[in-house]
Amino acid sequence: MNVTLNDIRERESRHIVQTYKRQPVAFVRGRGVYLYDVDGREYLDFVTGVGVAALGHAHPGLTAVIADQAATLIHTSNLYYHPFQADAASRLAELSGLPRVFFCNSGAEAVEACLKFARRFWYTKGERDRLGFVAVEGAFSGRTMGALSVTHHYREPFGPLIGPVTFVDPSKPEDLARAVTSKTAAVIAEPIIGEGGVRPMTPEFAAAINEACARTGALYIADEVQTGLGRTGYPFYSKVLGLRPDLISVGKALGGGIPIGAALVSENIAQTISAGDHGSTYGGNLLGTRAAAFVLEQLTNGLIDHVKSVGAHLERRLRALQLQHQIIVEVRGAGLMRGLQLDVDAAPIIDGARERGLLVNRTDERVVRLLPPLVTEVSEIDRAVEILDGVFSAVRQEVKA
Ligand SMILES: *Cc1c(COP(=O)(O)O)cnc(C)c1O
Repeated sequence: MNVTLNDIRERESRHIVQTYKRQPVAFVRGRGVYLYDVDGREYLDFVTGVGVAALGHAHPGLTAVIADQAATLIHTSNLYYHPFQADAASRLAELSGLPRVFFCNSGAEAVEACLKFARRFWYTKGERDRLGFVAVEGAFSGRTMGALSVTHHYREPFGPLIGPVTFVDPSKPEDLARAVTSKTAAVIAEPIIGEGGVRPMTPEFAAAINEACARTGALYIADEVQTGLGRTGYPFYSKVLGLRPDLISVGKALGGGIPIGAALVSENIAQTISAGDHGSTYGGNLLGTRAAAFVLEQLTNGLIDHVKSVGAHLERRLRALQLQHQIIVEVRGAGLMRGLQLDVDAAPIIDGARERGLLVNRTDERVVRLLPPLVTEVSEIDRAVEILDGVFSAVRQEVKA
């Protein structure tokens, strides 16, 4: 390919809405845990397109089912049946314990569906003033108007959003208890805040959600778009925390790179939803759901257990790294979803790692986030941690100089 990074940047600067601040690299190819840029340079990918490429890049099995389906039939709409929605849905039901699934195309749409289904539930029950949502400070649930309404950042220029939404400090379970009332349709919270800095929910806050929902009847929506589907070493991290979600939003890893999201729904909520209440032209098409069924099959055939074991290795290595470098003040997360809390801006670390051939990203300014593919091996984790060790040492030298 004869394209250069500068060509691409120049053309994008003229024609792309400038909503993203990109890193100065353009990728053209991937294989497993590695990405290759326009100059053929190799990078260890511990971002995976933000937790999407769960099976790594160009996974032979996933590639084969996508190619086969593309050559057979991609899309027919929800006017008709096809075999793969039920395949993917039954696997999701088995993993989550929630029996019904609505397919859409992204995480934000999965959250939208959950919010709409929660309102629909209370509407059907005749509690038509039960409209409120309780969300968490630092939460990220997506960029559409509904999902943005329960997202704590990025809201300012876009109001008024849907309401009423009350944001609660996740270190104050007593505030959640006060915020949830008989007018609350649902509480929505990520089991581990992802974009907001890899911050696991405390057991006390999880208990407060259970208690508040039991007391008032409010529904609980677990936003597992990032934490779900094996990322933490478990199918869903809400279960690990003892939460009992009525709805779960999933996305990111679900299609292994093919855009697909889903709202997982309890039977009693599903019973309040009628034909025509919600829909999506692309949602649940053959290509996306066949890819998802393949990814889900890999998860249950040992991949989640693999994440648990390599995730424990990653945690040990990161804790050892913390002992070597004072600017790392905390190691957080679970499985292959990890954050290093620094006491300085993380941007120079992200740049230094990329220059040394490792992709990691920054969230919440001072956090280095690691989201390697679920298929990552111990040797690749060791290599990534060695690169980080070099970067942290170099940054320390610069500070001293
Ligand atoms: C990424 C993310 C979303 C939004 O997903 P999109 O596919 O970008 O719309 C929602 N919730 C959580 C927890 C996420 O991490």
